Amino acid sequence: MEYDVVIGLEIHAELKTNTKVFCSCKNEFGAGHNKNTCPVCTGMPGALPIINKRAVELCIKAGLCFGCQINEYAVMERKNYFYPDLSKAYQISQLVYPICLNGGITLENGEFKALNRIHLEEDAGKLNHISRAVGTLVDYNRGGTPLIEIVTEPVFHSAEEVDEFLKKIREALIFADIANCKMEQGGMRCDVNLSLKPQGSDKLGTRTEMKNLNSFKSVFRAINYEIERQKEVLENRGVVLQETRKWDDNLGENFTMRSKEEAQDYRYFPDPDILPMIITREDIEKVKAEIPTLPQTRRNTYINDYQISKPDALILTSSKYISDYFENCVKIYNNPKKISNWIVTDVLRIVKDGEDLTFPINEKDLTTIIQMVEDKKLTKSNGLIVMEKVISSNKNPEQIAKEMNLISSITEEQIAKILEQFKLENPKAVQDLKTDPKVISFIIGYVMKNTQGKANGAIVKQLVDKMFN
Ligand code: ADP
Ligand code: MG
Ligand code: ZN
Repeated sequence: MEYDVVIGLEIHAELKTNTKVFCSCKNEFGAGHNKNTCPVCTGMPGALPIINKRAVELCIKAGLCFGCQINEYAVMERKNYFYPDLSKAYQISQLVYPICLNGGITLENGEFKALNRIHLEEDAGKLNHISRAVGTLVDYNRGGTPLIEIVTEPVFHSAEEVDEFLKKIREALIFADIANCKMEQGGMRCDVNLSLKPQGSDKLGTRTEMKNLNSFKSVFRAINYEIERQKEVLENRGVVLQETRKWDDNLGENFTMRSKEEAQDYRYFPDPDILPMIITREDIEKVKAEIPTLPQTRRNTYINDYQISKPDALILTSSKYISDYFENCVKIYNNPKKISNWIVTDVLRIVKDGEDLTFPINEKDLTTIIQMVEDKKLTKSNGLIVMEKVISSNKNPEQIAKEMNLISSITEEQIAKILEQFKLENPKAVQDLKTDPKVISFIIGYVMKNTQGKANGAIVKQLVDKMFN
């Protein structure tokens, strides 16, 4: 039997706030164990939460990035369950009145993938399983970190689609400064819900859920493993159980963790300590004004209006910094294609990948150099030398080019004269030019010798073409 694969995602992203979502403890990764804690985020009885306005704004911001409807009325609810990393024995989350509803994003093939909702909630602490002798230690630093949960409709049919979708979500969240999404730090995690149904059937099959996958690669592998596992179960006339399964990335397999609970098992109810939120038009407008043009839109401009190749457009939009830098350059010197070439091949080559990528040369100096090369005042290789000197000194490109005597001071007419001379002295070489590609270097060498190396090689070539062919 042939099956349709159906996948729905729940994506958690930690929000970029200074403080936690219900207390004023710092929201930071990597602090000493239990350093950023207080009675609220360790769940002491009677401690009172106060909602962090910035977290609400960032949730709205995410909703606006993905075309969601922002609800005027939103409520925080208690989701009750016991686990040692959750000292209150409930997580403050949202169920009936989330901040954002619907929305979605379009994949490269034009297919729209719908979201169900985006809601705000708090993260739990972290259990560190040390050893048999020591046991497990709990660190509540992460407890109370603001999260958004992006829930999709069951609209994906392959690991490839999910991979593209997750990368687009992550890219937008980072670009809009909503979340860092450092997956290796758990800053973005994904739960995969997956079921199979007989091909063409419109009744969904029973799903399993794999929680907290924290790399694109493990999502991809976990999906393909689970598709095969469910196929095998169904083909042997078994039933897929609704359960949570744990993906083991080292083994490349998953295991039953527990049978899946339903919403009613959590006894959700509105948190009596937190007032319902009223979100006004002004609140939404204020957040909207913070959102930059998103990478997808920028890429379209680069490809369609600037005729930049898709791979280069992807590199230019790989961070907001690079994209803004590129656009600033284009504002100074309207030659997007050349600027793109320089950034992608020459500037990025000399910067080190890092946390906070910045280019060691400013937009004005870079465009000055590019323009000098385009105007044939500098050869490309001398342009690169000037760029390196600009970076290592504090001087501007014109100054450096002059001081280093790199400006091509020989005019085309002077070169033409020298070429005439060459023709008189070497008629045979001019004959051989058509058949022997080595002759051109000989001619350039001759011109250089007669100009103390100040001629522009590219111009010599152009003139040779014009005069000798
Ligand atoms: P929870 O997992 O918290 O119970 P939901 O029931 O709303 O929440 O579903 C969560 C996710 O599971 C959503 O992304 C949804 O699209 C997906 N989902 C629901 N039913 C199925 C199914 N039969 N097959 C695959 N995915 C499903
Ligand atoms: Mg779920
Ligand atoms: Zn706290």
